[in-house]
Amino acid sequence: MQRTKVKELLTGAEVGKEVLLKGWVRTKRGNKFVNFIAVNDGSTIHNLQVVADAEKFPEETLKDITTGASVAVTGELVASQGKGQAYEVVANTIEVIGKADPEAYPLQKKAHSLEFLREIAHLRFRTNTFGAVFRVRNTLAFAVHKFFNEKGFVYMHTPIITASDAEGAGEMFRVTTLDPINPPLTEDGQVNYEEDFFGRATNLTVSGQLEGELAAMAFSDIYTFGPTFRAENSNTTRHLAEFWMIEPEMAFYDLKMNADLAEDFIKYIIREAIEKNRDDIEFLGQRLVEEDKTRPQNERQEMTLMEKLEFVVNNDFERVTYTEAIDILVNSPAYKKKKFQYEVSWGVDLQSEHERYLVEKHFKKPVIVTDYPKDIKAFYMRLNDDGKTVAAMDILAPGIGEIVGGSQREERLDLLVERMKGVGIEEEALWWYLDTRRFGGCPHAGFGLGFERLVQFVTGMGNIRDVIPFPRTPQNAEF
Ligand code: ATP
Ligand code: MN
Repeated sequence: MQRTKVKELLTGAEVGKEVLLKGWVRTKRGNKFVNFIAVNDGSTIHNLQVVADAEKFPEETLKDITTGASVAVTGELVASQGKGQAYEVVANTIEVIGKADPEAYPLQKKAHSLEFLREIAHLRFRTNTFGAVFRVRNTLAFAVHKFFNEKGFVYMHTPIITASDAEGAGEMFRVTTLDPINPPLTEDGQVNYEEDFFGRATNLTVSGQLEGELAAMAFSDIYTFGPTFRAENSNTTRHLAEFWMIEPEMAFYDLKMNADLAEDFIKYIIREAIEKNRDDIEFLGQRLVEEDKTRPQNERQEMTLMEKLEFVVNNDFERVTYTEAIDILVNSPAYKKKKFQYEVSWGVDLQSEHERYLVEKHFKKPVIVTDYPKDIKAFYMRLNDDGKTVAAMDILAPGIGEIVGGSQREERLDLLVERMKGVGIEEEALWWYLDTRRFGGCPHAGFGLGFERLVQFVTGMGNIRDVIPFPRTPQNAEF
């Protein structure tokens, strides 16, 4: 007999028929006469209730049906008598495929803390919360490809090992096959990377952008979606050492077109999740409501998770320049009451507390901040006519802060070289990048969206470690 997934069974399409289901036992309850077994196979947040008559099954079998065990069940799918589910399976046969010793199995029926579940990340997929989070993550990832594919963008795989350290100086992971105890040395006692695997020093990439730009100069519109690595020692709820980034790059785009695309993109993929994962999002929203009950009234969320997502999808993002944002901050009650820890004045980078003030207190919606001072942004961003700012854009999201960083790129060779000199990057190191400005250069733009931050936003999870299956953070790479 062909196995049917729980999600499919719960539609009731096969009611009255003999079905086969396989999955993991979430709970078992019952009495002398009958057992109710909740089975989940990950296809949906909902369990399928299996009704097992005690007299039909040997005590041995029933004893092995414990939380966490895997089972195969055949039986008739019927409309359920009880409340809580529309359909259930009346079991004819039950096979315990893999036992889970209740004395040793760490996941029990009671609610576990997210911190504890992080320590057993190999099992946390089996909880309702992480089931929901990773089904949403899957929908979002698929939607990324769908969005760009529909728009005719070419999916480009940029390298993970890179020799250019132009972008992330100081926060890159070195890639080497040299013997760490006895590395070859140059005459002046430095490690001689010429003898390393690639004949030069190499690192894990912090961004695929520079290579993405090269491809955009042929395909017009490209995107990357791959892992990126940052050895920054920031132990925050928004930073990982290994995370996934989506980086579209478009020829003949200016900053406004770039911002429009980013806004459309974010709305599109959130809409997909609302459509495909309504039950998961509602479950995750309920979690937040429960969590909120432990907080004072004035700190509670005004909207449920689903309402928040629908609000984002149905409303325009706010757009302000950096200069306007600084004005808003300096004139805010928070500033006057000295609530900000970090300085606010024209020229400083916005800290997360400032970003969150803008989106959560002032505008109460996602905000696109553009035209930052050139000194706090990367060398490749296009210099504005004022000579002081660059055509940069960051998108800030409620509860998260920065979710997108992007810009129109500097396409003018002389200005680009000058900026590179200013930050100490040798022309020779990026000769291939500069070639695109020499041969058929054109205005172009792009952005980077941190995928996990978006998953955080859609799932409402407070800690980025809870939206990637196996987080890599300082002092942590267990699984
Ligand atoms: P932040 O100031 O928050 O550290 P950033 O300015 O370093 O971000 P960019 O270099 O612009 O970020 O990277 C593009 C996007 O990648 C960011 O908008 C963010 O969504 C994401 N991102 C950056 N660093 C991390 C990280 N360590 N972990 C997860 N996502 C990240
Ligand atoms: Mn950073």
